[in-house]
Amino acid sequence: MKPVYTYLTPGPSALFPSVATHLQNALEAQVPSISHRGVAFQDIYQEADQHLRALLGLPANYRVLFCASANEIWERLLQNCVAHTSAHLVNGAFSRRFYQFALWLQKTPYLNEVAEGQGFEISQMPPFPADVELLALTQNETSTGVAMPEADLHALARQYPDALTVVDMVSSAPYPALDYGLVDSAYFSVQKLLGFRLV
Ligand SMILES: *Cc1c(COP(=O)(O)O)cnc(C)c1O
Repeated sequence: MKPVYTYLTPGPSALFPSVATHLQNALEAQVPSISHRGVAFQDIYQEADQHLRALLGLPANYRVLFCASANEIWERLLQNCVAHTSAHLVNGAFSRRFYQFALWLQKTPYLNEVAEGQGFEISQMPPFPADVELLALTQNETSTGVAMPEADLHALARQYPDALTVVDMVSSAPYPALDYGLVDSAYFSVQKLLGFRLV
């Protein structure tokens, strides 16, 4: 048997054991050849949507969007949901890159930065100005391994009720127990924990 490599890093990670069989089954059923507008594809899409809703406990009025990567999602969130100001809690490479995207897209983002390896004392954080449109929180800053407790994410969402609270759970989904009464959007990538093989 071939060795299985497990990396507790941003990636790459070994594929989940059933992936090879899924791919084989999909080829045998000619899934890659069916029309993306046909009923067969609609059924596949609907099944993925329903399973994700059940797994994450999404409210009925939330939508599931499939995008290319979290990098794309940062860009889409800023382009579609922010006219001027996003606010970023930065404590490592991934949270900093979301902030960088806001600068690249000519927004005027607010920044609260602590040293790499540190978390946030949210009760002592100076507040962001009231015109914040989007609050960017990173549940698990993969570059340092610092995680933000769900209670802190929710407290911040409550503190900025007029801002959209978006949570990066790229390397921790589906485990954070997010309250979607407070969190407006959350995103993850399949090449991180969700597709991870722990042996
Ligand atoms: C890997 C990672 C990203 C970027 O994900 P991609 O899907 O590769 O764009 C964003 N945030 C965190 C916390 C990550 O670990």
